[in-house]
Amino acid sequence: MSETNATPIRQQYLDIKKNYPDAIVFFRLGDFYETFDEDAEITSRELDIVLTGRNVAKGQKVPMAGIPYHAADNYISRLIEKGYHVAICEQIGEQPQKGIFPREVIRLVSPGTVIEPGLIKNEKNNYLVSLFIHENTAGLAFLDISTGEIGVSHFNDNEFHNRLNAEISRLHPSEILLPESIHLPFAEQYHVTSLQDWKFELGRSEQLLKTQFHVSSLDGFGLKNKPAAVAALGAILGYVKESDPQALALFTDLNFYAIEDHMVLDEATRRNLELTETILKVSEAGSLLGVMDKTRTPMGKRMIRRWVNQPLIHAGEITERLDAVEYLLENGLDRLELQKQLRSVADIERIINRVVAQHAVPRDLVALRETLEILPVILKKVSGHIPLLDRETGAMDDCSSEFMLLRESIAEDPPATLAHTGVIRPGYSSELDEIIQSTKNSRDYIANLEKVEKERTGIKTLKVGFNKVFGYYIEISNSYADQAPEEYIRKQTLVNAERFITPKLKEYETIVLNAEENIHAIENRVFKEICAELKKSSKKLLAASRFLGTLDVLASFAQAASENNYVRPKLSEDKHLMIKNGRHPVVEKTRVDISFVPNDTVFANGDNIQVITGPNMSGKSTYLRQVALIVLLAQIGSFVPADAAEIGIVDRIFTRIGAQDEIHAGQSTFMVEMIETANILHNATDKSLLILDEIGRGTSTYDGLSIAWAVLEYIHNHPRLKSRTLFATHYHELTQLPDVLPNIKNYNVAVSEVDNQVIFLHKIVPGGADRSYGIHVAQLAGIPGPVITRANEILAQLEGQSRQLELKDEASHPTQMALFTQDSPVLKDIKKLDPNSLSPIEALNKIYQWKKDL
Ligand code: ADP
Repeated sequence: MSETNATPIRQQYLDIKKNYPDAIVFFRLGDFYETFDEDAEITSRELDIVLTGRNVAKGQKVPMAGIPYHAADNYISRLIEKGYHVAICEQIGEQPQKGIFPREVIRLVSPGTVIEPGLIKNEKNNYLVSLFIHENTAGLAFLDISTGEIGVSHFNDNEFHNRLNAEISRLHPSEILLPESIHLPFAEQYHVTSLQDWKFELGRSEQLLKTQFHVSSLDGFGLKNKPAAVAALGAILGYVKESDPQALALFTDLNFYAIEDHMVLDEATRRNLELTETILKVSEAGSLLGVMDKTRTPMGKRMIRRWVNQPLIHAGEITERLDAVEYLLENGLDRLELQKQLRSVADIERIINRVVAQHAVPRDLVALRETLEILPVILKKVSGHIPLLDRETGAMDDCSSEFMLLRESIAEDPPATLAHTGVIRPGYSSELDEIIQSTKNSRDYIANLEKVEKERTGIKTLKVGFNKVFGYYIEISNSYADQAPEEYIRKQTLVNAERFITPKLKEYETIVLNAEENIHAIENRVFKEICAELKKSSKKLLAASRFLGTLDVLASFAQAASENNYVRPKLSEDKHLMIKNGRHPVVEKTRVDISFVPNDTVFANGDNIQVITGPNMSGKSTYLRQVALIVLLAQIGSFVPADAAEIGIVDRIFTRIGAQDEIHAGQSTFMVEMIETANILHNATDKSLLILDEIGRGTSTYDGLSIAWAVLEYIHNHPRLKSRTLFATHYHELTQLPDVLPNIKNYNVAVSEVDNQVIFLHKIVPGGADRSYGIHVAQLAGIPGPVITRANEILAQLEGQSRQLELKDEASHPTQMALFTQDSPVLKDIKKLDPNSLSPIEALNKIYQWKKDL
């Protein structure tokens, strides 16, 4: 791009801008980052700063908006939050004798590549994800540029969308990279950055990966025959290379994983179970994480969130965590003391990554030093007691040599950034010490000048000061100005005072200022050297960070167990589930107004389905979620809110919960409900746990009832399924199911009726409910008395009628299918149908067809 007669600086800007058409270019001009043209209009509008203009050629002005460079973080973060990308273009090197500064984009900041501490949240990982899809395979790569975590996975079956979706919802990325030719509707809720397709090209990706990981073949990483994964990984590393080349150094190890290595949780389930945030207020308080998180360190905070989001499925790993929690809970170790020490541990994971990526500042190294000082104390307390932690510490020592380095090299209380001097401790660099020593006289002279001159001249108002324009000066207020000694040279006149210099002062000033510049340069160099030295230990330091984070999470679990009276669950590989006096971990804590009623859960003797009937507001949903959360807690390695629990490990938890039905864009609530149900029926296994609340609620009674019935039959009979299932419903008709399907058991929520007063006991008891108490709930809600009375009359009439109907039906068709007549076309159709061969859409169309036929 060029403009006729553009000034050299304008031309330089245009040349740079053309490489970053999709980013706002922050163009460094002295103490400002300037934006131009359309970028300036956006910046001005979004950040509410003044839009000015700049002459770029004779008679030609373009819009310009600038921000001071030292306040840039704040402005950048606001632009990123609004979904923009920012290219930071700096002046490079020295100002040439003639012409303009060379300039270069040194970083491209996007939501997934932010590193500034002020721009990312402490308690969350900031994931960048890259996806590549080809026919029926998909590759997913993710990384966190602030912690150095990187992973890649591969999906290759017809149903991969579902699992891919689940994995993305786990990572909750702040940015997703996609080839521009691929559109994924489910990615739209995230910040998508479309990249040209060639950036996912296989040959390019392979080359990038081999260079990055210093290997000649990718097979060792488990990437053999997984081109989609290689493509996704290549694209993500390529993107990092363009955004922040230094950051590539963080990624030295690669972790290939299959999402089935952990419990799979789809997005709806994460939301329904309110794992990390509540549905209504979208806040952490009131979520499972809110109850469990007692961590003291940023690493622990991020790790506990990862653990809650990714429960384990291998008994060995779970047991290892449970052993650790038990040890911290019950043995002599002073957990509170440990947690107190953890409180002063800094975010060394991110600091080490900043050191490696050459973004660290003095403040970072001070924080690292403080943490390394405590590390040996903590290590000494726990080592040898907790195998899970001993495994982490196997890759490290107490980092005392790194601590010594930091203690010797970094000043006690250095400035926060490298903009000021005083970073390096005296005695560490002889070069530095010499300069400081050699200029000591001059410095002392200036430092003492005020006192000396005050005495010599007898002028009480005499002051020595410094400013950027005039350097050091002597200031005398107007009333004494005429008493200034002869050799004082008048330099500046203010309203109340005169400023002077002396030749000697200027002489010393030159020495001091030159030295200051030198000191600054040397300190910068020495600081870099210290970082380079630390970088050599980065693996060990990161192991220390992982150790501290893991200990923090385990201690947090122990604290939650101790405060809330949790018990250690027993795990097995079978389909067992027994919970004695289980409680909902969140409701029991947050609803202080109620006294929580514990409930048992037992799947025994091959029973795998519980149908739970009960009035609205009696506690069905709470009970269902409670079981799911107890299983989940057990599988993240935590104790659980119950008196006892035995849990056959669950591979996936599925939930279909109707309570918070929100209207999804363009889809009816019922449609969403059916899509979620279809997903469950297609993907659940005999090791899954199914939480189904009010299936079929979103349509007419008969539709809903028939769907609910058919769904339960399917789960009961299908060889792949037979999943442990909790099914809450207000369709009383479903209580007939156990008569024909032996592995279904009825439960209901107990209600006590004394003197016409209905009390919900919140107790789950065997057997089906016989009344719905809907009118009772209406009364509780304040529906006017006459309406309630009339509703009771109508109910009595309706019940009378339906009883007659039922009697007739039972007489003619004593079979399970009291819903249909034997020759019903719908029934025939259902009998003919092979559910295994149906897609969700076909199933839904069928249902619509039946509805019409009935
Ligand atoms: P349902 O799903 O049957 O409509 P919910 O599970 O939403 O009922 O529970 C309704 C209310 O009952 C909850 O807000 C809570 O206050 C109370 N509740 C539920 N379970 C219990 C329990 N086990 N102990 C005490 N109160 C409970």
